[in-house]
Amino acid sequence: MKKPVRVAVTGGAGQISYSLVFSIASGQLLGPDQPIILQLLEMPVAMEALKGVAMELDDCAFPLLHDIVTTDDVKTAFTDIEYALLVGAKPRGPGMERNDLLRDNGKIFTTQGKALNDYANRNVKVLVVGNPANTNAYIAMRSAPDLNPKNFTAMTRLDHNRALSQLSAKTGTKVTDIKKMVIWGNHSSTQYPDITNTTVAGKAAKSLVDQNWIVNDFIPTVQQRGAAIIKARGKSSAASAANAAVDHIRDWALGSNGEWVSMAVPSDGSYGIPEGLIYSFPITTANGEYSIVQGLEIDEFSRDRMIKTQNELEEERSAIADLLG
Ligand code: NDP
Repeated sequence: MKKPVRVAVTGGAGQISYSLVFSIASGQLLGPDQPIILQLLEMPVAMEALKGVAMELDDCAFPLLHDIVTTDDVKTAFTDIEYALLVGAKPRGPGMERNDLLRDNGKIFTTQGKALNDYANRNVKVLVVGNPANTNAYIAMRSAPDLNPKNFTAMTRLDHNRALSQLSAKTGTKVTDIKKMVIWGNHSSTQYPDITNTTVAGKAAKSLVDQNWIVNDFIPTVQQRGAAIIKARGKSSAASAANAAVDHIRDWALGSNGEWVSMAVPSDGSYGIPEGLIYSFPITTANGEYSIVQGLEIDEFSRDRMIKTQNELEEERSAIADLLG
């Protein structure tokens, strides 16, 4: 039996976590032979609810779940962890400005970045789900100078999965027939779902759908899918977000077998995106490392959209710059 791996989840009593922690404990994150110790962080006010989640985890009698730590202390939550799924974030309240949201969350992610820096395993892989996810990941990365910046990522996998599902419905094919889907940029409505390089059962996706559908249907549907789910369900997406978080970490840890996935990662300057910005790229993963797919041709249509979402991320970064000292 392998040695247990410590996995932290923040916002452990929230609705995404209510799906996520059970998937992790059942072995879907790191495979059926990898025991796990879950370290769940919550705010003091939610500790009672978190206790309830831990009781339900106990009641599942998951063979791989070796221990559960529930805490409102970041040091306890992050000590020796190899994976951090940062889900907890402050939701936008009534009348709250976008900058207030950025700054309130900025404070949470400064604290968490510092705690990762001080207490986590030196190779900790960090996924930020809590919104504004890209900028929260940027803040955590900048607050953890002793860790490899490459280990800080944000989630655009749900957008990627939504794009796969929309294209598969349109073309009447299976999602597994679709390869080389890309989400560029911010996990927000400026994201750019791009099918320029996508194939469907070996054929170019662009030869199967018309430009009008791409511009007026596909792109806006993927960009606004979160809002559509809130309208239908009365609550934001949770199970699909949890599923995407598992996809993101599993592929990063265990490899994507040559398939392209989308992950928001610190830019290395690829495609002219400013270095350090946490921007979603086409990615392949192997041996616990990810690489940005190189050499794609970017036409004017794509470039315009990539710059728009880049501009938004740069504005977000400016709004929180002073928090980083
Ligand atoms: P959820 O579990 O529904 O969502 C958590 C975060 O994930 C939100 O920021 C949400 O953004 C974001 N998110 C990212 N992608 C998606 C997506 N595709 N669909 C839905 N959400 C997405 O929120 P809850 O309010 O139920 O739970 C949050 C928990 O976090 C609370 O229990 C709270 O106490 C806790 N918390 C813990 C902290 C900590 O551990 N230190 C700090 C702050 C909060 P959006 O708001 O835009 O939907």
